[in-house]
Amino acid sequence: MPRVLITGAAGFLGSHLCDRFIKEGYHVIGMDNLITGDLKNIEHLTPLQNFEFHHHDVSKFVHVSGKLDEILHFASPASPIDYLKIPIQTLKVGSLGIHNLLGLAKEKKARLLIASTSEVYGDPAVHPQTEDYWGNVNPVGPRGVYDEAKRFQEAMTMAYHTYHGLETRIVRIFNTYGPRMRLNDGRVLPAFIGQALRGEDLTIFGDGSQTRSFCYVDDLVEGIYRLLKSDYVGPVNIGNPDEITIKQFAEEIIRLTGTSQKIVYKTLPTDDPKQRRPDISLAIKLLGWEPKIDRAEGLKRTYAYFKSLPEEDLYKEAHGRAFDKNSK
Ligand code: NAD
Ligand code: UDP
Repeated sequence: MPRVLITGAAGFLGSHLCDRFIKEGYHVIGMDNLITGDLKNIEHLTPLQNFEFHHHDVSKFVHVSGKLDEILHFASPASPIDYLKIPIQTLKVGSLGIHNLLGLAKEKKARLLIASTSEVYGDPAVHPQTEDYWGNVNPVGPRGVYDEAKRFQEAMTMAYHTYHGLETRIVRIFNTYGPRMRLNDGRVLPAFIGQALRGEDLTIFGDGSQTRSFCYVDDLVEGIYRLLKSDYVGPVNIGNPDEITIKQFAEEIIRLTGTSQKIVYKTLPTDDPKQRRPDISLAIKLLGWEPKIDRAEGLKRTYAYFKSLPEEDLYKEAHGRAFDKNSK
Protein backbone atom coordinates (compact mmCIF):
# COMPACT_ATOMS: atom_id res chain seq x y z
CA MET A 1 0.00 0.00 0.00
CA PRO A 2 1.51 3.40 -0.95
CA ARG A 3 1.97 5.80 2.00
CA VAL A 4 1.42 9.55 1.85
CA LEU A 5 1.95 12.28 4.47
CA ILE A 6 -0.47 15.21 4.19
CA THR A 7 0.31 18.27 6.31
CA GLY A 8 -2.55 20.65 7.10
CA ALA A 9 -4.78 17.55 7.05
CA ALA A 10 -7.46 18.99 9.36
CA GLY A 11 -7.88 22.08 7.22
CA PHE A 12 -10.19 22.76 4.31
CA LEU A 13 -8.03 21.52 1.42
CA GLY A 14 -5.96 19.03 3.43
CA SER A 15 -9.06 17.14 4.57
CA HIS A 16 -10.36 16.83 0.99
CA LEU A 17 -6.94 15.56 -0.10
CA CYS A 18 -7.03 12.95 2.69
CA ASP A 19 -10.38 11.76 1.33
CA ARG A 20 -8.98 11.51 -2.19
CA PHE A 21 -5.87 9.53 -1.21
CA ILE A 22 -7.93 7.16 0.94
CA LYS A 23 -10.14 6.59 -2.12
CA GLU A 24 -7.03 5.88 -4.20
CA GLY A 25 -6.04 3.06 -1.80
CA TYR A 26 -3.28 4.87 0.14
CA HIS A 27 -2.26 4.66 3.77
CA VAL A 28 -2.72 8.32 4.73
CA ILE A 29 -0.81 10.00 7.55
CA GLY A 30 -2.46 13.34 8.34
CA MET A 31 -0.49 15.91 10.32
CA ASP A 32 -1.79 19.19 11.74
CA ASN A 33 -1.32 21.44 14.77
CA LEU A 34 -4.98 22.58 14.54
CA ILE A 35 -4.07 26.27 14.60
CA THR A 36 -6.69 27.03 11.95
CA GLY A 37 -7.94 23.51 11.25
CA ASP A 38 -10.61 21.41 12.91
CA LEU A 39 -10.63 17.68 13.71
CA LYS A 40 -14.28 17.61 12.64
CA ASN A 41 -13.05 17.77 9.03
CA ILE A 42 -11.40 14.36 9.33
CA GLU A 43 -13.44 12.65 12.07
CA HIS A 44 -15.03 10.36 9.44
CA LEU A 45 -11.53 9.06 8.60
CA THR A 46 -10.18 8.39 12.09
CA PRO A 47 -11.85 4.95 12.48
CA LEU A 48 -10.16 3.72 9.27
CA GLN A 49 -7.20 1.32 9.47
CA ASN A 50 -5.39 3.12 6.68
CA PHE A 51 -5.63 6.59 8.26
CA GLU A 52 -3.59 7.97 11.14
CA PHE A 53 -3.48 11.47 12.58
CA HIS A 54 -0.45 13.15 14.14
CA HIS A 55 -1.05 16.34 16.15
CA HIS A 56 2.19 18.14 15.39
CA ASP A 57 3.57 21.56 14.41
CA VAL A 58 5.60 20.97 11.22
CA SER A 59 7.74 24.03 11.95
CA LYS A 60 9.38 21.73 14.51
CA PHE A 61 11.37 18.60 13.53
CA VAL A 62 9.05 16.13 11.76
CA HIS A 63 9.38 12.43 12.40
CA VAL A 64 7.38 9.73 10.62
CA SER A 65 8.26 6.07 11.02
CA GLY A 66 8.15 3.59 8.15
CA LYS A 67 8.32 4.26 4.45
CA LEU A 68 6.82 7.29 2.75
CA ASP A 69 6.18 7.52 -0.97
CA GLU A 70 4.74 11.01 -1.18
CA ILE A 71 4.38 14.16 0.94
CA LEU A 72 1.88 16.96 0.33
CA HIS A 73 2.71 20.12 2.28
CA PHE A 74 -0.56 22.01 2.83
CA ALA A 75 0.00 23.26 6.37
CA SER A 76 -0.22 27.05 6.51
CA PRO A 77 -2.71 29.66 7.59
CA ALA A 78 -4.39 30.61 4.32
CA SER A 79 -6.99 33.30 4.81
CA PRO A 80 -5.90 36.95 5.06
CA ILE A 81 -7.41 37.41 8.54
CA ASP A 82 -5.65 34.26 9.78
CA TYR A 83 -2.21 35.14 8.52
CA LEU A 84 -2.54 38.73 9.69
CA LYS A 85 -3.29 37.46 13.22
CA ILE A 86 -0.53 34.85 13.23
CA PRO A 87 2.16 36.30 10.98
CA ILE A 88 5.12 34.63 12.69
CA GLN A 89 3.64 31.13 12.51
CA THR A 90 2.81 31.79 8.85
CA LEU A 91 6.39 32.72 8.06
CA LYS A 92 7.71 29.78 10.06
CA VAL A 93 5.56 27.12 8.42
CA GLY A 94 6.56 28.36 4.97
CA SER A 95 10.27 28.37 5.84
CA LEU A 96 11.19 26.11 8.80
CA GLY A 97 8.24 23.85 8.01
CA ILE A 98 9.18 23.25 4.38
CA HIS A 99 12.82 22.74 5.38
CA ASN A 100 11.79 19.96 7.78
CA LEU A 101 9.59 18.33 5.17
CA LEU A 102 12.22 18.53 2.44
CA GLY A 103 14.64 16.84 4.84
CA LEU A 104 12.07 14.15 5.54
CA ALA A 105 11.42 13.67 1.81
CA LYS A 106 15.17 13.32 1.17
CA GLU A 107 15.54 10.79 3.98
CA LYS A 108 12.55 8.72 2.78
CA LYS A 109 13.20 9.24 -0.95
CA ALA A 110 9.65 10.52 -1.21
CA ARG A 111 8.14 12.84 -3.82
CA LEU A 112 7.07 16.17 -2.31
CA LEU A 113 4.33 18.49 -3.56
CA ILE A 114 3.92 21.96 -2.07
CA ALA A 115 0.82 24.13 -1.91
CA SER A 116 1.86 27.45 -3.35
CA THR A 117 -0.57 30.20 -4.25
CA SER A 118 -1.64 32.86 -6.70
CA GLU A 119 -0.42 35.27 -3.98
CA VAL A 120 3.13 34.73 -5.29
CA TYR A 121 1.99 37.05 -8.11
CA GLY A 122 1.01 39.71 -5.53
CA ASP A 123 -1.09 42.52 -7.02
CA PRO A 124 -0.43 41.32 -10.56
CA ALA A 125 0.60 43.63 -13.39
CA VAL A 126 0.14 40.76 -15.88
CA HIS A 127 -3.37 39.46 -16.52
CA PRO A 128 -4.31 36.63 -16.61
CA GLN A 129 -1.40 35.25 -14.60
CA THR A 130 0.95 32.82 -16.33
CA GLU A 131 3.53 30.74 -14.47
CA ASP A 132 6.42 32.70 -16.04
CA TYR A 133 5.23 35.99 -14.47
CA TRP A 134 7.45 36.80 -11.46
CA GLY A 135 4.89 38.83 -9.58
CA ASN A 136 4.43 42.15 -7.82
CA VAL A 137 4.68 41.52 -4.08
CA ASN A 138 5.22 44.06 -1.31
CA PRO A 139 7.53 42.18 1.10
CA VAL A 140 6.89 44.55 4.02
CA GLY A 141 3.14 45.02 3.54
CA PRO A 142 0.67 43.08 5.71
CA ARG A 143 0.26 40.28 3.13
CA GLY A 144 4.05 39.95 2.79
CA VAL A 145 4.17 37.38 5.63
CA TYR A 146 2.14 34.96 3.53
CA ASP A 147 3.32 35.87 0.04
CA GLU A 148 7.01 35.84 0.87
CA ALA A 149 6.73 32.64 2.91
CA LYS A 150 5.21 30.98 -0.13
CA ARG A 151 7.83 32.43 -2.48
CA PHE A 152 10.61 31.22 -0.17
CA GLN A 153 8.92 27.82 -0.02
CA GLU A 154 9.03 27.57 -3.82
CA ALA A 155 12.71 28.62 -3.90
CA MET A 156 13.67 26.11 -1.19
CA THR A 157 11.78 23.32 -2.93
CA MET A 158 13.50 24.08 -6.23
CA ALA A 159 16.90 24.12 -4.50
CA TYR A 160 16.32 20.64 -3.05
CA HIS A 161 15.29 19.45 -6.50
CA THR A 162 18.36 20.97 -8.15
CA TYR A 163 20.99 20.14 -5.53
CA HIS A 164 19.67 16.90 -4.04
CA GLY A 165 17.75 15.55 -7.04
CA LEU A 166 14.56 15.38 -4.94
CA GLU A 167 11.35 14.77 -6.85
CA THR A 168 9.25 17.89 -6.29
CA ARG A 169 6.03 19.44 -7.56
CA ILE A 170 4.67 22.98 -7.07
CA VAL A 171 0.99 23.82 -7.39
CA ARG A 172 -0.02 27.48 -7.47
CA ILE A 173 -3.57 27.40 -6.16
CA PHE A 174 -6.04 30.16 -7.03
CA ASN A 175 -9.04 31.01 -4.79
CA THR A 176 -10.75 27.72 -4.01
CA TYR A 177 -14.03 27.17 -2.17
CA GLY A 178 -16.29 24.38 -1.01
CA PRO A 179 -17.55 22.45 2.01
CA ARG A 180 -15.36 22.55 5.17
CA MET A 181 -14.29 26.16 4.76
CA ARG A 182 -14.68 27.85 8.14
CA LEU A 183 -17.63 30.21 8.23
CA ASN A 184 -15.52 32.68 10.23
CA ASP A 185 -12.26 32.47 8.27
CA GLY A 186 -12.83 35.89 6.72
CA ARG A 187 -12.54 34.75 3.11
CA VAL A 188 -15.11 36.32 0.88
CA LEU A 189 -17.35 33.33 0.22
CA PRO A 190 -17.86 32.17 3.83
CA ALA A 191 -18.05 35.84 4.86
CA PHE A 192 -20.93 36.57 2.46
CA ILE A 193 -22.80 33.31 3.10
CA GLY A 194 -22.37 33.70 6.88
CA GLN A 195 -23.72 37.24 6.69
CA ALA A 196 -26.70 36.13 4.61
CA LEU A 197 -27.48 33.27 7.03
CA ARG A 198 -27.26 35.58 10.06
CA GLY A 199 -29.41 38.23 8.39
CA GLU A 200 -26.60 40.79 8.21
CA ASP A 201 -25.65 43.09 5.35
CA LEU A 202 -22.93 41.81 2.99
CA THR A 203 -19.64 43.68 3.43
CA ILE A 204 -17.78 44.56 0.24
CA PHE A 205 -14.25 45.85 0.79
CA GLY A 206 -13.48 48.77 -1.54
CA ASP A 207 -15.89 49.41 -4.41
CA GLY A 208 -16.17 45.74 -5.36
CA SER A 209 -14.50 46.18 -8.75
CA GLN A 210 -11.59 43.90 -7.78
CA THR A 211 -11.82 40.47 -9.41
CA ARG A 212 -11.25 36.88 -8.33
CA SER A 213 -11.77 33.53 -10.09
CA PHE A 214 -13.24 30.82 -7.88
CA CYS A 215 -12.48 27.11 -8.24
CA TYR A 216 -14.59 24.36 -6.67
CA VAL A 217 -12.58 22.12 -4.34
CA ASP A 218 -13.20 18.82 -6.22
CA ASP A 219 -11.73 20.30 -9.40
CA LEU A 220 -8.68 21.52 -7.50
CA VAL A 221 -8.09 18.12 -5.88
CA GLU A 222 -8.22 16.42 -9.29
CA GLY A 223 -5.67 18.90 -10.68
CA ILE A 224 -3.35 18.37 -7.71
CA TYR A 225 -3.57 14.60 -8.00
CA ARG A 226 -2.69 14.72 -11.69
CA LEU A 227 0.19 17.12 -11.08
CA LEU A 228 1.62 14.90 -8.35
CA LYS A 229 1.60 11.95 -10.74
CA SER A 230 3.12 13.95 -13.61
CA ASP A 231 6.83 14.44 -14.17
CA TYR A 232 6.71 18.26 -14.31
CA VAL A 233 8.87 20.13 -11.79
CA GLY A 234 8.04 23.78 -12.47
CA PRO A 235 5.10 25.61 -10.90
CA VAL A 236 1.65 24.94 -12.34
CA ASN A 237 -1.43 27.15 -11.89
CA ILE A 238 -4.55 25.27 -10.83
CA GLY A 239 -7.72 27.32 -10.64
CA ASN A 240 -10.88 28.22 -12.47
CA PRO A 241 -10.41 31.04 -15.01
CA ASP A 242 -14.04 32.19 -14.75
CA GLU A 243 -13.36 35.71 -13.42
CA ILE A 244 -15.93 37.82 -11.59
CA THR A 245 -15.92 41.13 -9.70
CA ILE A 246 -16.53 40.96 -5.96
CA LYS A 247 -19.64 43.10 -6.46
CA GLN A 248 -21.08 40.60 -8.97
CA PHE A 249 -20.14 37.83 -6.57
CA ALA A 250 -22.05 39.49 -3.70
CA GLU A 251 -25.08 39.79 -5.97
CA GLU A 252 -24.84 36.09 -6.84
CA ILE A 253 -24.76 35.20 -3.13
CA ILE A 254 -27.80 37.42 -2.50
CA ARG A 255 -29.70 35.55 -5.25
CA LEU A 256 -28.50 32.14 -4.06
CA THR A 257 -29.46 32.67 -0.43
CA GLY A 258 -32.59 34.74 -1.08
CA THR A 259 -31.50 37.17 1.64
CA SER A 260 -33.21 40.55 1.78
CA GLN A 261 -30.06 42.18 3.19
CA LYS A 262 -28.21 44.85 1.26
CA ILE A 263 -24.58 45.42 0.33
CA VAL A 264 -22.49 47.79 2.48
CA TYR A 265 -19.04 49.07 1.57
CA LYS A 266 -15.98 48.97 3.88
CA THR A 267 -12.36 50.03 3.50
CA LEU A 268 -10.26 47.97 1.09
CA PRO A 269 -7.44 46.17 2.95
CA THR A 270 -3.87 47.28 2.14
CA ASP A 271 -2.34 45.60 -0.95
CA ASP A 272 -5.58 43.79 -1.82
CA PRO A 273 -4.95 42.50 -5.39
CA LYS A 274 -7.09 44.32 -7.97
CA GLN A 275 -7.44 41.41 -10.37
CA ARG A 276 -6.77 37.71 -10.38
CA ARG A 277 -7.37 35.03 -12.99
CA PRO A 278 -5.25 31.99 -13.70
CA ASP A 279 -3.95 31.22 -17.16
CA ILE A 280 -4.37 27.44 -17.07
CA SER A 281 -2.95 26.64 -20.53
CA LEU A 282 -0.05 24.77 -18.93
CA ALA A 283 -2.31 22.55 -16.79
CA ILE A 284 -4.49 21.80 -19.82
CA LYS A 285 -1.45 20.85 -21.92
CA LEU A 286 0.49 18.94 -19.27
CA LEU A 287 -2.24 17.29 -17.26
CA GLY A 288 -5.25 17.31 -19.60
CA TRP A 289 -6.96 19.07 -16.68
CA GLU A 290 -9.54 21.79 -16.60
CA PRO A 291 -12.29 22.61 -14.11
CA LYS A 292 -15.62 20.84 -14.61
CA ILE A 293 -17.84 22.34 -11.91
CA ASP A 294 -19.16 25.80 -12.69
CA ARG A 295 -19.84 28.43 -10.04
CA ALA A 296 -23.61 27.91 -10.03
CA GLU A 297 -23.20 24.23 -9.15
CA GLY A 298 -20.25 24.74 -6.78
CA LEU A 299 -22.06 27.48 -4.87
CA LYS A 300 -25.19 25.33 -4.58
CA ARG A 301 -23.18 22.50 -2.99
CA THR A 302 -21.27 24.86 -0.70
CA TYR A 303 -24.41 26.66 0.45
CA ALA A 304 -26.04 23.31 1.25
CA TYR A 305 -23.03 22.50 3.45
CA PHE A 306 -23.13 25.80 5.33
CA LYS A 307 -26.87 25.46 5.89
CA SER A 308 -26.38 22.00 7.37
CA LEU A 309 -24.06 23.28 10.13
CA PRO A 310 -25.34 23.70 13.69
CA GLU A 311 -26.59 27.23 14.34
CA GLU A 312 -23.88 27.92 16.93
CA ASP A 313 -21.25 27.72 14.13
CA LEU A 314 -22.81 30.81 12.62
CA TYR A 315 -21.92 32.87 15.67
CA LYS A 316 -18.43 31.52 16.44
CA GLU A 317 -15.71 34.12 16.62
CA ALA A 318 -12.54 33.49 14.56
CA HIS A 319 -10.74 30.25 15.43
CA GLY A 320 -9.74 30.37 19.11
CA ARG A 321 -6.11 29.35 18.79
CA ALA A 322 -5.46 31.86 16.04
CA PHE A 323 -5.79 34.53 18.72
CA ASP A 324 -3.20 33.01 21.03
CA LYS A 325 -0.27 35.43 20.88
CA ASN A 326 1.86 33.09 22.99
CA SER A 327 1.85 30.29 20.39
CA LYS A 328 4.72 31.69 18.32
P1 NAD B 1 -6.87 25.95 6.27
O1 NAD B 1 -6.55 27.02 7.24
O2 NAD B 1 -8.26 25.38 6.26
O3 NAD B 1 -5.86 24.73 6.42
C1 NAD B 1 -4.54 24.87 6.80
C2 NAD B 1 -4.22 23.78 7.81
O4 NAD B 1 -2.83 23.84 8.16
C3 NAD B 1 -5.01 23.95 9.12
O5 NAD B 1 -5.62 22.73 9.47
C4 NAD B 1 -3.93 24.36 10.14
O6 NAD B 1 -4.25 23.97 11.45
C5 NAD B 1 -2.70 23.68 9.57
N1 NAD B 1 -1.44 24.27 9.98
C6 NAD B 1 -1.06 25.57 9.92
N2 NAD B 1 0.18 25.73 10.40
C7 NAD B 1 0.62 24.49 10.77
C8 NAD B 1 1.83 23.99 11.32
N3 NAD B 1 2.87 24.80 11.61
N4 NAD B 1 1.94 22.66 11.56
C9 NAD B 1 0.91 21.82 11.27
N5 NAD B 1 -0.27 22.24 10.75
C10 NAD B 1 -0.41 23.56 10.50
O7 NAD B 1 -6.51 26.52 4.81
P2 NAD B 1 -6.71 25.88 3.36
O8 NAD B 1 -7.55 26.80 2.56
O9 NAD B 1 -7.09 24.45 3.47
O10 NAD B 1 -5.23 25.98 2.78
C11 NAD B 1 -4.38 24.85 2.73
C12 NAD B 1 -3.11 25.18 1.94
O11 NAD B 1 -3.45 25.57 0.60
C13 NAD B 1 -2.30 26.33 2.53
O12 NAD B 1 -0.93 26.03 2.40
C14 NAD B 1 -2.67 27.50 1.66
O13 NAD B 1 -1.64 28.46 1.61
C15 NAD B 1 -2.90 26.84 0.31
N6 NAD B 1 -3.79 27.63 -0.55
C16 NAD B 1 -5.14 27.63 -0.35
C17 NAD B 1 -5.94 28.40 -1.18
C18 NAD B 1 -7.44 28.39 -1.04
O14 NAD B 1 -8.12 29.09 -1.81
N7 NAD B 1 -8.04 27.65 -0.14
C19 NAD B 1 -5.38 29.18 -2.18
C20 NAD B 1 -3.99 29.17 -2.33
C21 NAD B 1 -3.20 28.38 -1.53
N1 UDP C 1 -13.74 40.73 0.52
C1 UDP C 1 -14.88 41.51 0.64
N2 UDP C 1 -15.68 41.33 1.75
C2 UDP C 1 -15.41 40.41 2.71
C3 UDP C 1 -14.25 39.60 2.57
C4 UDP C 1 -13.44 39.80 1.46
O1 UDP C 1 -15.16 42.36 -0.21
O2 UDP C 1 -16.18 40.33 3.68
C5 UDP C 1 -12.87 40.91 -0.67
C6 UDP C 1 -11.40 41.07 -0.37
O3 UDP C 1 -11.05 42.41 -0.07
C7 UDP C 1 -10.79 40.59 -1.68
C8 UDP C 1 -11.76 39.52 -2.16
O4 UDP C 1 -12.98 39.75 -1.46
O5 UDP C 1 -10.77 41.64 -2.62
C9 UDP C 1 -11.28 38.09 -1.88
O6 UDP C 1 -10.90 38.04 -0.53
P1 UDP C 1 -10.45 36.70 0.19
O7 UDP C 1 -10.07 37.06 1.57
O8 UDP C 1 -11.47 35.65 0.00
O9 UDP C 1 -9.18 36.18 -0.63
P2 UDP C 1 -7.91 36.86 -1.32
O10 UDP C 1 -8.07 36.49 -2.74
O11 UDP C 1 -7.92 38.35 -1.14
O12 UDP C 1 -6.75 36.22 -0.66
